[in-house]
Amino acid sequence: APLEALMQAGASHLWLHASPIQTLVTQADRRILVEGRGCRVTDAQGHTYLDALSGQWLVNVGHGRAEIAEAMARQAKALAYGNASRAATLPAIQLAAVLAHLTPGDLSTVFFSSGGSEAVESALKIARQYHALRGEPERYKVIARRGSYHGATYGAMSASGSRSGVDSYFGPLLSGTLSVSAPYCYRCDYRKTYPECDVYCVDAIEDLLRYESPNTVAAVIAEPVSAACGIVVPPAEYLPRLREICDRHGVLLILDEVITGFGRTGKMFASEHWDVVPDIMTLAKGLSSGYAPIAATVCRQPIADIFGGANGKAIGHLLTFGGQPVACAAALANLDILQRENLVRNAEQQGAYLLSRLHDLASRHPSVGDVRGLGLLCALELVTDRRTQQPFPVDGPEIHYLLEKLAELGVLTRAEGNLYLAPPLCIERHEIDELTGIVDTALSHFEEAHSY
Ligand code: PLP
Repeated sequence: APLEALMQAGASHLWLHASPIQTLVTQADRRILVEGRGCRVTDAQGHTYLDALSGQWLVNVGHGRAEIAEAMARQAKALAYGNASRAATLPAIQLAAVLAHLTPGDLSTVFFSSGGSEAVESALKIARQYHALRGEPERYKVIARRGSYHGATYGAMSASGSRSGVDSYFGPLLSGTLSVSAPYCYRCDYRKTYPECDVYCVDAIEDLLRYESPNTVAAVIAEPVSAACGIVVPPAEYLPRLREICDRHGVLLILDEVITGFGRTGKMFASEHWDVVPDIMTLAKGLSSGYAPIAATVCRQPIADIFGGANGKAIGHLLTFGGQPVACAAALANLDILQRENLVRNAEQQGAYLLSRLHDLASRHPSVGDVRGLGLLCALELVTDRRTQQPFPVDGPEIHYLLEKLAELGVLTRAEGNLYLAPPLCIERHEIDELTGIVDTALSHFEEAHSY
């Protein structure tokens, strides 16, 4: 059959990023997705699923938006490529202006790239060059939080808060990349309890800064709500206090909104929940809802000022695909839909409903240890025993069983100790009922199979 031949070709030639080679013939997961509409995707065998992870946390406006495809086609016909390093194009200017307007405070200057890793890589290099141009080249260290993920390129990987597995293949990492514990209250590294802890985990960042000597540190990088940590929503005091700490020591605050940006958490940007303006914001994913590869690193005016003016210096960082016009056109059409259809508000309202349904599930399912979420960025943390909070092995057979059961029942998502639920922002209430109904059934099977 042609489909079987395609599987064979995929197994021989296609290297999936998170699977061993030849996955298509050796693993159960042989889904080839061919079509999408709204919150649903269909595979080559004609099975339709609710896409509970928005692809990979990014199809914010939903699948199948002809309007975005048409905007891309128009731009490709007019001009598919300009010259990213020296000549502006109309969509790049328009998109930069839209982003300067949408992002909070005096975030004003936009450096384009193609994906989240590049946006972070750009932010790290901008931070270091900024300090160097100000006469402080010794500020090179970067502090990240454990468990966070900022990307796959060397700098972004080094600044991510996970060392296991990475060091053994790719070490030594970029020197001066340090990590602190995340505000993960369910498993606090400091064995403290909020609010009695007075958010010690953020003060620990200042302790580390003092220990390292603040004038050696370029930046602190953090996701406002960390997806990789397991949808860790910080206590209310955390980000405002982190902003103060960075200001006190002349350290730049980079907020990585690659997942949380563009309405995912019920505000246009998650940092707005706490009225915190970072010095640099990194954006990707929902910027185009995945219709084109595009990312942005947005800087505040004081940073732009150092690189700008008659005596300004160009950044030593050049990417061929930065501001690619067809991708910019996709992003503009995508942001237009996001605003016109009030999808940020929908994410806030449907997110609150989803979270309430997940709390209801947790009250009936002993495998759920914790429920976390903000807007349409939610997780159920799975445990073998609620009392001991014993987690499941991240990539173990139990998690695979749960994912397969969900797929069988018509839901695609991701789980690694946490079951993630982050559907497109256009989701409707009845689809959340359908989604949580399926999760309910899948958890019952899961618990039966693993004798709770
Ligand atoms: N930053 C965050 C917070 C992410 O979650 C990711 C990817 O999931 C990245 C950066 C890297 O983005 P990309 O995979 O587009 O390079």
